[in-house]
Amino acid sequence: MLTLEKFSLGVGDRFAHQAKAQLRACIKAAEQGATVIPVWNKSNREHGIVGSEPPSVRAAADQAVAELGWKHPHHVDADHINLGTVDRFIDASDFYTLDVAATIGESASPEDLNAFVAAHPELTGTVTIPGIDDPFVITRESVAAIAAKYLAAVQQAGAIYRHIAAERGERAFITEVSMDETDSPQTPPELLVILAAIAGEKIPIQTIAPKFTGRFNKGVDYVGDVVQFEKEFSEDLAVIAFAIKQYGLPENLKLSVHSGSDKFSIYGPIRRSLRKFNAGVHVKTAGTTWLEELIGLAEAGGEGLEMAKYIYAKAFADRDSLCQPYATVIDIDYAKLPDPAVVNGWTSEQYTSALRHDQKNPDFNQNLRQLLHVGFKVAAKMGDKYLKMLEACEANVSRNVTENLFERHIKPLFLTE
Ligand SMILES: [Zn+2]
Repeated sequence: MLTLEKFSLGVGDRFAHQAKAQLRACIKAAEQGATVIPVWNKSNREHGIVGSEPPSVRAAADQAVAELGWKHPHHVDADHINLGTVDRFIDASDFYTLDVAATIGESASPEDLNAFVAAHPELTGTVTIPGIDDPFVITRESVAAIAAKYLAAVQQAGAIYRHIAAERGERAFITEVSMDETDSPQTPPELLVILAAIAGEKIPIQTIAPKFTGRFNKGVDYVGDVVQFEKEFSEDLAVIAFAIKQYGLPENLKLSVHSGSDKFSIYGPIRRSLRKFNAGVHVKTAGTTWLEELIGLAEAGGEGLEMAKYIYAKAFADRDSLCQPYATVIDIDYAKLPDPAVVNGWTSEQYTSALRHDQKNPDFNQNLRQLLHVGFKVAAKMGDKYLKMLEACEANVSRNVTENLFERHIKPLFLTE
């Protein structure tokens, strides 16, 4: 097992041009006393849309690390893979996110279900977990019901894990299990049962990504009950600490927050809960960097600004098809999207004010931001033309990428007292 350190940040680099700028944010964090390990994550779906291959992520990451002299570890995450998609990630990645959300609700065999319930009497009755005020009261029926919902998914994770382990042979790796891309959140008692099942499958899990309560829309802030989130997040941490001891799971097992980027209002609750339990965390941010690329182009003015306007116009025209695959993770009010004709008349500042995630700016428009977040397909279709413009506007782009990750993500999560 390759060990993931306590604090890590998943960074997405859709067009493989910002690895250095992203790493600079981690370097700044290290200089200020927080070691935050960068993990470059890219899902199979993203590779499909952009038309890239996993080795490109590895190459960009390794090059950035070499050029900037980063002395801590770094990793490359095959994000949201399954048995059907993992093979092309075997050489390039050392971190695998086994996505078994699609199997949630499928039933394991009656023999397996009965065996699981019989093997875990400790899950039934009053379960007292240090750090949680009210003990869980779980009946045998509810253990059986939770197992009926999740055991098959965990068995699937076991199958994916064993496949990767066999393919990689001696090459160690980090394993995450994700269940976030599903309809209903997992409660802390469900998480406990899931972890017991994961231990049963002998998966050396280091990060687990449950679905949390509330909405995690792409590129914008959390929508939901922040107090309830903090309670559940903190209970999840208690459950994890308990399960590590109870089931012999890896000592460094921690939560992975698939944030959909920019969940600023829960960063405080996350930070406080981590302190309370002296726990680590992995936070995945993906699309936030692509939006900083657009901000950099717009800020550069001239042809960069023109291209940023073109991308908006195209995304606006294709809004139905761009939004459809993300329907469950965006909330865009079409009526509040500015007309492309209006945007075409904008200055650099008007464009960046509308897009940059500064909720204090009255011109910030979260509808436009979400549309552009899912609009990276437009830039992908432009191919080299887009990449050349990134290079031409590199100073503006990379400054925004670094500042965004450091100021808006790393600082509130890892450096604020
Ligand atoms: Zn996810």
